[in-house]
Amino acid sequence: MTSFDSLGLPPELLRAVADEGYANPTPIQAQAIPLVLAGRDVLAAAQTGTGKTAAFVLPILERLRAGSNASYSPARHPVRALVLTPTRELAMQVGAMTTAYGRHLALRSAVVHGGVPVGPQVKELLRGVEILVATPGRLLDLVGQRAVSLSRVELLVLDEADRMLDMGFLPDIDRIMALLPPRRQTLLFSATLDDEVRRLATAFMHAPATVEVAPPNRPAEAVREVLYPVDRERKLALFEHLVRRHDFRQVLVFTRTKVAASRLAADLDRDGFRAVAIHSDRTQVDRTRALADFKAGSIDILVATDVASRGLDIEELPLVVNFELPLKPEDYVHRVGRTGRAGLAGLAISFACVDEVDLLRGIQGLLRRAIPWQVEDGFEPDRNAEPRPIRGLGGSGRGPAEGGRSPNPAHRHKSDRLHTGFSPGRHRHRSPSHRPG
Ligand code: AMP
Repeated sequence: MTSFDSLGLPPELLRAVADEGYANPTPIQAQAIPLVLAGRDVLAAAQTGTGKTAAFVLPILERLRAGSNASYSPARHPVRALVLTPTRELAMQVGAMTTAYGRHLALRSAVVHGGVPVGPQVKELLRGVEILVATPGRLLDLVGQRAVSLSRVELLVLDEADRMLDMGFLPDIDRIMALLPPRRQTLLFSATLDDEVRRLATAFMHAPATVEVAPPNRPAEAVREVLYPVDRERKLALFEHLVRRHDFRQVLVFTRTKVAASRLAADLDRDGFRAVAIHSDRTQVDRTRALADFKAGSIDILVATDVASRGLDIEELPLVVNFELPLKPEDYVHRVGRTGRAGLAGLAISFACVDEVDLLRGIQGLLRRAIPWQVEDGFEPDRNAEPRPIRGLGGSGRGPAEGGRSPNPAHRHKSDRLHTGFSPGRHRHRSPSHRPG
């Protein structure tokens, strides 16, 4: 196994890594760190939980170490490394890790994101920082206010690039790229390297080395997965029944939309559960407080959308529930990856109603296996239920619908329906949208 000593990192960083208690580099770190230190552009397929943050932060700190200084002059602290992230939570997390790994170096870092007053961020930037972690919109605001210049950036990181594209940040990214020096090192991290991500890489990177770790289409072995077929209208009752019966605490529940997350949290609250929704319409203060309450145990159920869940740093979650299956099959893996971390056993429960048969097929196509399922007594789905179309499916072409199957239930064969006799195992075939590998 590779050791941190052999990667070419200086003593200050080896010390920081030891402070964190890391014994050995993760696979993405072992592969990416030497490439970044050698000055290469790197295109990396790695999802949250693989140690991807240290895979770029550590070598960046080493690349910037040469020019580090303790001068009070802001001019001596231009932004030399820029990390773009899709969400505020991820920005804060990357910022915290940059501070931790850089604690023995004289480099300054800052985090800027929307949802909080801009004033303190302007002040901090005017003092000068070498490493800036930012969400795209707020960064452009700050550039517009002349609080920061990007003309001296040597290193750019696009973190969770697939998610930034999904969230519609491409125009902002284009504008930011135009502000950066053309000669720079660019690192792109993404859970998946699909065509859109590769197009981004081609546009903005120079002969990148590609690094891929543990195929991201497999939840950790330690996670037990169960799928419950259930009627659309009975999901809430089934969820409450399971939580009560098993006395579940610290449950992370996923819905597809903010509206559904808010509604579910309100329904649970009404029924006496300690639940809070966390999504991008909530203020940063609200989201941070909800997360802290959840970690402290004063909230039992956190309801999140896929976007909001990115960057949530919660360790050792015992249970993840897919109240609604995600539109993108990859998100199933991301969601389920929230449990069973670090070798701990985890449980991932999914509910699927008759509307979600295509979504389930997409997920099982990606996993290349069926999710084990069981019917809960008293919650047997109505075998005559008619599917309703799912919002967001079949529109932009990035959901499972891109596989070419019509999301229109009228076009589906009756045997695809989710009823008591349905067998998810039948849908084992690879969906056409599945990427090889
Ligand atoms: P990330 O994939 O960057 O979100 O990191 C996931 C978690 O892994 C974080 O809590 C890190 O502190 C932790 N981590 C990163 N690198 C290592 C390592 N080499 N050994 C053990 N834990 C690590």
